[in-house]
Amino acid sequence: MSVKKSPQTALIHTDYQAPEGFAAFPSAIHHASTVLFKNVAAMRSGDWKEKNAYTYGLHGTPTTFTLEARLAEIEDGKHCLLAPSGLAAIAMVNFALLKSGDDVLLPENVYNPNRELGRWLSADFGITARYYDPLIGEGIAALIQPNTKLIWTEAPGSVSMEVPDLPAICKAAHERGVLVALDNTWSAGLALRGFDLGVDIIMQALTKYQSGGSDVLMGAVITRDRGLHDRISLAHMRLGMGVGADDAYLVSRGLPTMRLRFEAHDAAARKLAAWLQTRPEITKVLHPVFPDCPGHEVWQRDFSGAGGLFSVIFDERYTEAQTDRFVDALKLFKIGYSWGGANSLVMPYRIQQMRKNWHGSGTLVRFNVGLEEVQDLIADIEQAFGEL
Ligand SMILES: *Cc1c(COP(=O)(O)O)cnc(C)c1O
Repeated sequence: MSVKKSPQTALIHTDYQAPEGFAAFPSAIHHASTVLFKNVAAMRSGDWKEKNAYTYGLHGTPTTFTLEARLAEIEDGKHCLLAPSGLAAIAMVNFALLKSGDDVLLPENVYNPNRELGRWLSADFGITARYYDPLIGEGIAALIQPNTKLIWTEAPGSVSMEVPDLPAICKAAHERGVLVALDNTWSAGLALRGFDLGVDIIMQALTKYQSGGSDVLMGAVITRDRGLHDRISLAHMRLGMGVGADDAYLVSRGLPTMRLRFEAHDAAARKLAAWLQTRPEITKVLHPVFPDCPGHEVWQRDFSGAGGLFSVIFDERYTEAQTDRFVDALKLFKIGYSWGGANSLVMPYRIQQMRKNWHGSGTLVRFNVGLEEVQDLIADIEQAFGEL
């Protein structure tokens, strides 16, 4: 029964209910901090861990549950948790699975903010973070200690592009009871089937291809094992890892076109990379499709595509000042971090300072190939070579 309302109360309360039966393709955007319970019993019986009921906006709405379910399905996983950025997703995995006294192994070519997080864990949390050669394969066995709990992998490393042998790393890890997490951002969950290769946890920066708009920051952690998911859920809840409804909607909106975009990025990147291989200014193109890219055979065995991200090494006769001039002279390639959007991007890296065992002295420049006409991108690079 409805109560009588003054106009002021009517501003806040309404008895109107839209008719049921509305159906459309886009997922609905539910904004909520407070979630309403039908009665006290429903409130008391609610369990935030079960995604069949709602307790609080931070713990999920139909908008976020739907996106999580879709991402889990794309990766062939069972469970998914959203985080406010890819880096937040990485941090959530670390805080869920590591405690004081534990050890975590990271590849030398790991996403740099993950390395920074490792430094913090080592400095302030009593956790050791150690680094391994991304091409180590089954040799990782020799690095695993009794207190090693987690091995991060990245396939390939998003600056220097070495492709790790995931099945070999997973086998060595699992024989010793160690979990393996994969940063699968490069492949968008499309070109590399991480769970089939043995990994336990897949992390995605949805900021890249899933969004596709260079406008959203979001991350996901996907698992198959319920126990593992529950451990990460606890960290998700304790750390307050909520995502905004509009952002979740934007990521959902990107999914139907993601495969077409990914394939277009891939085709254009291969053309551009092949052209760069013929250029005298470049000594090496770091793209896993080429046999001289470290881990190429593994890429051929395990991947079904490549996306739009690769790097080149300039001939060492060019100084950093010269390659900086090249980068500044590019018109279509804009200088910026991230990738997966329609716009081509470029970024120089001081790889010799980032990596202990880096051989060679030429400057590394990374390209994110967008969706522009590839001939225009080639022409842009050609004119910028003139500035060297
Ligand atoms: C971008 C990226 C991340 C982090 O994603 P953000 O949403 O920018 O925090 C993590 N790993 C890889 C490989 C990335 O490219």
